[in-house]
Amino acid sequence: MAEKKVIIGLEIHVQLTTGTKLFCGCPNKFSNEPNENVCETCLGMPGSKPVLNEKAVDMAAKIAMALNCKMPKEMLFSRKSYFYPDMSKNFQITQYEAPIATNGFVIVGEVPNDKKIRIRRIHMEEDPARIVNEGAFTLIDYNRSGTPLCEIVTEPDFSSPQEARLFLQKLSSILEYLDVYDSSTEGSMRVDSNISLEGSPRVEIKNISGFKDVESALNYEIGRQRNAIQHGEKIFMETRGWDAATGTTKSQRIKEEEEDYGYITDTDLPRITLSKKFLSGIAESLPEFSEQKIRRYRKEFGIQREIAVSIADEPGLAEMFEKAVKEVEPKLAAEWFAGELKKTLNYNNLKIKNTGLKAEHIIKLLKMLEKGEITIKTSELAIREMVLKPDDPERYVEKKKRIHDSESIEKAIKEALNENAKAVLDYKTGKQEAFNFLVGQIMRKMQGRGDPVMIRELLKKKI
Ligand code: ADP
Ligand code: MG
Ligand code: ZN
Repeated sequence: MAEKKVIIGLEIHVQLTTGTKLFCGCPNKFSNEPNENVCETCLGMPGSKPVLNEKAVDMAAKIAMALNCKMPKEMLFSRKSYFYPDMSKNFQITQYEAPIATNGFVIVGEVPNDKKIRIRRIHMEEDPARIVNEGAFTLIDYNRSGTPLCEIVTEPDFSSPQEARLFLQKLSSILEYLDVYDSSTEGSMRVDSNISLEGSPRVEIKNISGFKDVESALNYEIGRQRNAIQHGEKIFMETRGWDAATGTTKSQRIKEEEEDYGYITDTDLPRITLSKKFLSGIAESLPEFSEQKIRRYRKEFGIQREIAVSIADEPGLAEMFEKAVKEVEPKLAAEWFAGELKKTLNYNNLKIKNTGLKAEHIIKLLKMLEKGEITIKTSELAIREMVLKPDDPERYVEKKKRIHDSESIEKAIKEALNENAKAVLDYKTGKQEAFNFLVGQIMRKMQGRGDPVMIRELLKKKI
């Protein structure tokens, strides 16, 4: 029997990095102190009125354009009714009938293995509060309540878990280039994955943060569903949760039918016109994305695709690289950015923007390497230290640099000759090993940093 086709669609919640929340002036930032950043509006008190954050609209519009979506002339907000302690006013303000964007697409992968993933819609909404279960009690932290979210819904266009992961990586890179999202914040992107095997109802796996976890959960689910079907069991529509510790999904609730949320228009918020002027301003503000950068780097600098990808993937790295190529040979820069620098960042699980490393530092180091003042080994060691403790490379290199100045070498030779009269005599009576012994002594006095060619030359003259 042929294996049934896999069908996957994703719903992705992205936390926008605005300064304040979506409908009030409370700071939009994580706090260890529960219920610190709250007011009447984000606590949902009667009589409070939401005021839309313009920055959030800008960000959502940027995302919509970057994902090639159509945008309506007018959008509005709706109330989605539900009862749950994380939403004290018993409705969530979201977009339903008229979201900010529909009908977009993202191309994943490279020709000839590229694939178009259609975006069904993008809507803005407020994040509910965070629920913490402690023993018999349920605690609620409203700091998160009212955080601006963008929900991106794809068509069921993925045919494998790997494709879903590649899409999420691409999306994450686009969002980082737009500067609307912070990948280093836990839960800044939360994914609901819908998966079905051809001919069976779909199952939803809720709320996974890591891309690898999304892929693992989907792989597990394919196995579970195939196995169930083989055993003559029926797959039913349900919501499941991912348990990363056991690597399995568990049923949370059975969905008989789509819940009735009783959406109504939120009359506290005006309809919003997305004017031509606003949209062309947004279009002009879009940056160059990794895809375009990869193409440009390959063309301008003649570098391999993998190297270009590894640099362009991370906006901070690409930005620094583009400064470096103005001062050092581009191929050399590319090799070091995609090589030792990227490796060190990955090894320490860091992004360049979180290191404090400055472009001047890396450029200075690469210039020293280019001029042959330092060895490849020295540069590698310096980069490893610089990522963890950003500083002028001079500081790191100094410790390791070869000493070429004849004065220091002569001083070391003089000392070595005074201390090793016997070896000097041995050499003079024809023992060649004595010469090598003296070179070793001199090198030791210079902590291994003396230029060996100069040492031999000067020693021959002195002895
Ligand atoms: P709604 O939740 O509004 O009813 P859908 O159920 O059509 O909308 O879609 C929700 C998500 O489920 C979308 O991301 C969509 O791509 C995905 N999806 C829809 N049908 C399937 C399917 N048969 N298999 C897997 N995913 C699906
Ligand atoms: Mg749904
Ligand atoms: Zn508030």
